[in-house]
Amino acid sequence: MTDQCFYHSYDRKEHLHFESKAVHGALGYEPITGAVSFPIFQTATFRHESFDVSTGYYYSRLENPTRQELERTMAILEGGTEGFAFSSGQAANMSLFGLLNKGDHVVLSDDIYGGTYRICQDIFSRLGCEFTYVDMAELEHLKAAVGPKTRMIFVETPTNPMMKVADLSAISAIAKENGSLLVVDNTFLTPYFQRPLALGADIVVHSGTKYLSGHNDVIAGIVVVAGQELAEHFTMQIKSRGNGLAPFDSWLVLRGLKTLALRMEKHNENAAWVAAWLRGHPKVKRVYYAGFEDHRGYGVSLRQTTGFGGMVSLELDSAETVKQLLSRVKMILFAESLGGTETLVTYPLTQTHESIPADIREKLGIHERFVRISVGIENSEDIIRDLEQALA
Ligand SMILES: *Cc1c(COP(=O)(O)O)cnc(C)c1O
Repeated sequence: MTDQCFYHSYDRKEHLHFESKAVHGALGYEPITGAVSFPIFQTATFRHESFDVSTGYYYSRLENPTRQELERTMAILEGGTEGFAFSSGQAANMSLFGLLNKGDHVVLSDDIYGGTYRICQDIFSRLGCEFTYVDMAELEHLKAAVGPKTRMIFVETPTNPMMKVADLSAISAIAKENGSLLVVDNTFLTPYFQRPLALGADIVVHSGTKYLSGHNDVIAGIVVVAGQELAEHFTMQIKSRGNGLAPFDSWLVLRGLKTLALRMEKHNENAAWVAAWLRGHPKVKRVYYAGFEDHRGYGVSLRQTTGFGGMVSLELDSAETVKQLLSRVKMILFAESLGGTETLVTYPLTQTHESIPADIREKLGIHERFVRISVGIENSEDIIRDLEQALA
């Protein structure tokens, strides 16, 4: 069949800066009508012109123009070969670990997102894969954990929720030497602040639910790969598992991406204020924030990122204070998730990290006095004032 459609070639816009790329996407406007907002192609299937002529679109489980615009835009923003949009971050990770064969070994950051841990322990362990969790901020720990069976190294940086920073260039060198794939969950910093593929990663994965869409209104996952072989794996996954993102949800993420740069700047600025204020509060024992000059990974952050992001975790003086904070916040919302315009306070023990076994949680410091704040884009004085009255 010959493919006849305006949508097949697009410009990667290499000449533009990040903010402009995020606004103008891959095709950007719709080329036939000139619609400035890329349309939502709410269709299951596509008509063929004749026996041997098609548009190159067949069935939306495989490929849909709206999802494709998002996938291409993400490939441009992360600097990868191809992008893939999934129905959630979890779906993206399920397809990522679909790269594994029986007997394969994976080394992961020790305080990853609870759902990622669950995929490894409850699903892929059962299929004969092995998982080791290490503090990626200590390269010696990683070197000791990799071996001939290590197919993949999976890194979150900064980690969720302890904000540990990993040196991606150094880890990439270890991965290459060992013949392992390096995967980076870039949910916390987004390509606006950190571009792992340029630092040697093979795959970037995101919960698009968080900063990329940015408005707490959609569940989505993104994968961007370096290289054609990996792209084929994910094309096959979406086709077979049927876990591609729906057209309307793709459009919501695309719309969110247009303001990604502005939002990230504001999240970054507000988080710096909030972290500094919390550090001086008598009921706050410890603040975990990648932007503190005395943070263990500060030097690495300065080298590999252009911002510290909007996440701040803290240890309070008692479980009572935690209960008080979570019940008294007014503007700030007590809810699971992160990366949206609203400031959210989360209790990892019973929310995001409930899947992590108690002894491991305790060792990491995720206990009943630990809370995580996703600092939103409100006025920073309002955020601080709300925390002040809630902690009083
Ligand atoms: C939320 C999150 C996920 C899971 O994504 P969903 O979109 O909720 O499925 C994975 N990794 C990180 C770091 C997350 O914050």
